Amino acid sequence: MSRSEELFARARRWIPGGVNSPVRAFRAVGGTPPFVARGEGARLFDVDGRSYIDYVGSYGPLILGHAHPRVVEAVCQAARLGATFGAPTEGEVALARVLVEAVPSLEEVRLVSSGTEATMSAIRLSRAATGRSGVVKFRGGYHGHVDALLVESGSGASTLGVPSSPGVPAAVVEQTHLLPYNDLAAAQALFDRSGAEIACVIVEPVAGNMGVVPPEPGFLEGLRRLTREHGAVLIFDEVITGFRVAYGGAQARLGVTPDLTCLGKVIGGGMPIGAYGGLRELMEQVAPAGPVYQAGTLAGNPVAVAAGLRTLEILREEDPYPALEEVSARLADGLAEAARDAGICVQVQRVGSLLGLFFTEAPVRDAAGVAAADGAAFRRFFHAMLDAGVYLAPSPWEAWFVSTAHRAAEIDATVEAARRAFRIAA
Ligand code: PLP
Repeated sequence: MSRSEELFARARRWIPGGVNSPVRAFRAVGGTPPFVARGEGARLFDVDGRSYIDYVGSYGPLILGHAHPRVVEAVCQAARLGATFGAPTEGEVALARVLVEAVPSLEEVRLVSSGTEATMSAIRLSRAATGRSGVVKFRGGYHGHVDALLVESGSGASTLGVPSSPGVPAAVVEQTHLLPYNDLAAAQALFDRSGAEIACVIVEPVAGNMGVVPPEPGFLEGLRRLTREHGAVLIFDEVITGFRVAYGGAQARLGVTPDLTCLGKVIGGGMPIGAYGGLRELMEQVAPAGPVYQAGTLAGNPVAVAAGLRTLEILREEDPYPALEEVSARLADGLAEAARDAGICVQVQRVGSLLGLFFTEAPVRDAAGVAAADGAAFRRFFHAMLDAGVYLAPSPWEAWFVSTAHRAAEIDATVEAARRAFRIAA
């Protein structure tokens, strides 16, 4: 028995399913998840002494790779001064300023401790500001485990076959309107029918929880127009895309500005954090400036803020986005060529350093496309890659995350491993 198998057996005695977040359990692909001992750059090392080129990157935060020395230094310095105070600190002000200066839609921003808290709070604020309760989300979009948003969600929920969770009251589900991603006509029809009930539309401007699905031209622009016409709040969930597909997020890359933006992942440099912000007139309704209540014992945590500030400082100084684009394109092109050579049909969909791989013949434009892809081929591919030392997310509903620590050598080794894995998958 390997050390990971031993630990997984023990974990299942005390932790539901043996993990603290469902997708980590390998349910969709089978087998035992390697228990991680440490990470360095683009690599993970497990407790059995194996090493992997890592494309999970903790599901998005680690754009600089594992244990970046300057981020580690910032965390240690901050921890030495005290982990948390429950009082304002200078770092929070600095981080808020960096976020506001970077992300086009932000005039004010509130720090929270996770992406889930960010989306939950953005929805509450939208409902308070509009006096309406309807929320529009897209099938396959994942916005954390907020009741109203855990309806036909992507990511781990779809992986486990429970896109709509038991325990979410029917009365809440009734307030959530579902639409197919990239279907502006469906959005138009919904607003024509129920526009006066809709508080907000929440959307991942590049969908990153059904693999990677880019917005089709005009989709986000259409949502912007519809929400304006009907007095609803447009929320971009940039928890994955913020500081990832561009320094200013997808809104900077694509040129569409929402009313509210949710952030997380990269802005915490690997520490627990989230943020939501937007128009001053909306954010001034949040307590204590206004009556919309939202709070957090660890919100603006000094250690998380220090990790985030240092990460964003490096991104600003080094502007790694062109290099990330290049290395990610090398990976996407290499995977497509390897699949062709193996005689298997796949779709490689990429936006910046986010990449999705689907075993299917047509480009994937929504959750139905992901569901129609060949799951068994993915499972074979996944395990062949893991055996070859490449760590992918154990689900086709998840994105691959490339970091600045992935260089040509790692990419080429990955493509080499994929050549064999595609033949096994075929
Ligand atoms: N929004 C998006 C787009 C996400 O991908 C996630 C998590 O994967 C969340 C929100 C929830 O963030 P957290 O897991 O930090 O609560």
